Amino acid sequence: MMPLLSISEIYALIDQFDPVHYGKTRNYQNGGVSKLSAYLSRGIISTRQVYERLRQRGITHYEMEAFLMELCWRDHSQRIWQHHNPQIEVRTAQHFIYNENQLPTPVLETNTGIHAIDDALRTLKTTGYMHNHLRMYLAALVCNHYGAHWRTAAKWFFGQLCDADAASNHLSWQWVCGANAPKVYYANQDNINKYTDSKQSGSSLDTSYENLPSLHITTAWQNPDYPFRPSSTNVAILNKTIPTHLYTPYHLDPNWRKEETANKILFWDLDHWNDYPFTKSVFDWINELALVQIPDIQIVVSTWEEFKGNLDLKKTFTKEHPLTISYGLQCDQRDWLWPVASLEKPGSFFNYWKKVQKYLRRED
Ligand SMILES: Cc1cc2nc3c(=O)[nH]c(=O)nc-3n(C[C@H](O)[C@H](O)[C@H](O)COP(=O)(O)OP(=O)(O)OC[C@H]3O[C@@H](n4cnc5c(N)ncnc54)[C@H](O)[C@@H]3O)c2cc1C
Repeated sequence: MMPLLSISEIYALIDQFDPVHYGKTRNYQNGGVSKLSAYLSRGIISTRQVYERLRQRGITHYEMEAFLMELCWRDHSQRIWQHHNPQIEVRTAQHFIYNENQLPTPVLETNTGIHAIDDALRTLKTTGYMHNHLRMYLAALVCNHYGAHWRTAAKWFFGQLCDADAASNHLSWQWVCGANAPKVYYANQDNINKYTDSKQSGSSLDTSYENLPSLHITTAWQNPDYPFRPSSTNVAILNKTIPTHLYTPYHLDPNWRKEETANKILFWDLDHWNDYPFTKSVFDWINELALVQIPDIQIVVSTWEEFKGNLDLKKTFTKEHPLTISYGLQCDQRDWLWPVASLEKPGSFFNYWKKVQKYLRRED
């Protein structure tokens, strides 16, 4: 799994990060990517904190532009989720679907025959991480050539990631299959070889770009398996005289309301499990990471209906998040690169990005 970093170790990771090298190499599997996604998705740090820390080092907007754009993709996806359920297509239906509910056996058995993808799937199991380009290759193979439904694939992939996040994940699967983009994404073996430093030939993707849209690969199919569901542990020692701070797998900010005395609960909502199941390894990793950030946190696994009876809701606080907004708690806002946009629908990524750039330049 990804390293269980403390907040100061995460700051050190940002301080060592080179955004100029990133801009030149980010598409390569061995390029200088930040590996910050797990800590961003778990809500330990925000895109704004990362940006401000880079600014403190004197890095200019120009030097960090490629990286800022990626951070902005994260913010944009989160903004979309505030208005639109990521389980639903943003633009249009997936144009090629062969099997709605199952996944290709070679993908589940890590035996697609595309060596770079199979290696990335093996690495995913041990680290909970996959490079962005490999995620795109995988999604293109699964949806655009085998014909799996993006929603089935996104659910299976989600829970294996330390950075699992419905907005970034589901909207990216939609993007690759054209449900959230004006075109479908394709990559052939030459492209895979170039960015993964491999030399494979003769694979199912070893063809020209012209042939890719009609390349439909026949395969065996299986139901994806979700064997792990945590047991309900609706027991926490709550001091009723003090407030309760509700943390979630998406909000583990160790600096949030840090000075206040409170009951601290990491709440796993079992009602989210059906759409967003985690593997046991990732579930355990998130719990351990929570304990690194907030050592006195108590872990509760339950449904909100069952757990909320234990709480004084007027004295329970959390951070705004689309999955927990229905709890009706007092929510503090999350941090954003462009904080003023909170109530607006984000529109297209590039329009949003232009506004973010303008806003950040004014902050200079
Ligand atoms: C099919 C698919 C599924 C994905 N699922 C997830 C997911 O569940 N969680 C997740 O955080 N990212 C997801 N991504 C986006 C991206 O692959 C990862 O954020 C990135 O690979 C993480 O590595 P890094 O931190 O080194 O990224 P860097 O390249 O260093 O980027 C910096 C940060 O920008 C953000 N970012 C980068 N690319 C994207 C993107 N396309 N969309 C949204 N934010 C982005 C991430 O927070 C990342 O940490 C997915 C992409 C694809 C194609």
